[in-house]
Amino acid sequence: MYLLHSLRLTLLCGDATNSPDTTLALRMLSGFVLTSPDPIEDSGIHRKLLEPDVEAFRAKYAETSSGNWAHLHAQHADILAHGADKNAIKLCAVTALEVEKGVLSAGFNLSELISFVMHCNPRDLPKDTDGNVDFPSRVSKRFGPDQLQKFRPIDDGTSNGLNYELILMLEIIAPISAEYPARVASAIYQRFSHPPDGSQQRSMPEITVATDDVDMAYKRAPVSGYEIIAYFNPHVKCIATGNMGDVVWHVSFGLPFGYVSSVSSWCRVPALMAMVARRKFACLCDSYIDDWCIVDFADAESSSQDTLHVLHTAFKLPLAACRQPYCANCNKHPLPPSVQQRANPAKCKRRRHAAFADFLGFVIDFSFVTSTGCVIIKPKTERCARILSELDDCAEALQLSPSLAKKNIR
Ligand SMILES: [Zn+2]
Repeated sequence: MYLLHSLRLTLLCGDATNSPDTTLALRMLSGFVLTSPDPIEDSGIHRKLLEPDVEAFRAKYAETSSGNWAHLHAQHADILAHGADKNAIKLCAVTALEVEKGVLSAGFNLSELISFVMHCNPRDLPKDTDGNVDFPSRVSKRFGPDQLQKFRPIDDGTSNGLNYELILMLEIIAPISAEYPARVASAIYQRFSHPPDGSQQRSMPEITVATDDVDMAYKRAPVSGYEIIAYFNPHVKCIATGNMGDVVWHVSFGLPFGYVSSVSSWCRVPALMAMVARRKFACLCDSYIDDWCIVDFADAESSSQDTLHVLHTAFKLPLAACRQPYCANCNKHPLPPSVQQRANPAKCKRRRHAAFADFLGFVIDFSFVTSTGCVIIKPKTERCARILSELDDCAEALQLSPSLAKKNIR
């Protein structure tokens, strides 16, 4: 898996920064533990629950695990019964891409999956007197809800009980918010207006903000044990019926999207990278899951962003930048695009240093920092338009659902 390459670099960086996450390199070697009868280790990165309910966690784990075999077959029947939905073709395409990138195993039918996971022919499985098999994992159904910009498959760790089990032991803390660039600007302002060495006060320098996105992020981080996903593939012939369409099973080698512990596990990686970038390279940066926000002095000409790029490359975790010579996001001096390139521009999530940046649904505006000392943070125009449109729909229906309220009142 990808992070294996970074094992020694993680040890070096962890030691150089005195990181509290002393088991991160071990996880890069043996995979992150998502489900286990023992409490998941404390990484030192997240806030611990005051009193983790270990007894409740173990009871829930035992209950869940004993039903894994029955759940496997129930999921098979359920997915088969529901068949293809409107997103089935898209789901097949993105799943095939993950197989190609080595994130998922090849697709199995049920018999092949059981052979792969249990290391024996399904006919020879050891069964107890009730016919139950001690199956090591609980299956997550893959589905693909429509999202605003991107079709992103979700592996359902909620309806199969895994997420509930895990929240008994973990608290996910993502402390960064859209205020981060403003807090950095404030610290710079304080330092220049009240120099700690008592030297003469200086005016606020021009500062800029940039953003980057990690390509596939936690799907590139290895998982310990067998995490199994299943979905309905209309292109596959069902062995039992001979009709087109069957359940296809994959073992996920990377952290699945949809598990609460995937987020907390993955966040340990950018947390270390942020420590290295800040302490060893003086980069003013922070991450929110797979998003980076980088503040820099205009005179530094985006050297912070370049440093973060080098770090990501060294960790074999590429940023979602296209690196095309004509891309203005990736190059300070882009070449003119060809007619073909102009017609089909490469997908690029990098945003170079500028006075403005979009970050976590907000526009960060540094335009007036030097003149007024103010950073403007405002919601993106399209987000405001969407929320107003949804509220209009609510007013018409005289109803506001709890999920919509939660989504928009943040
Ligand atoms: Zn680019």
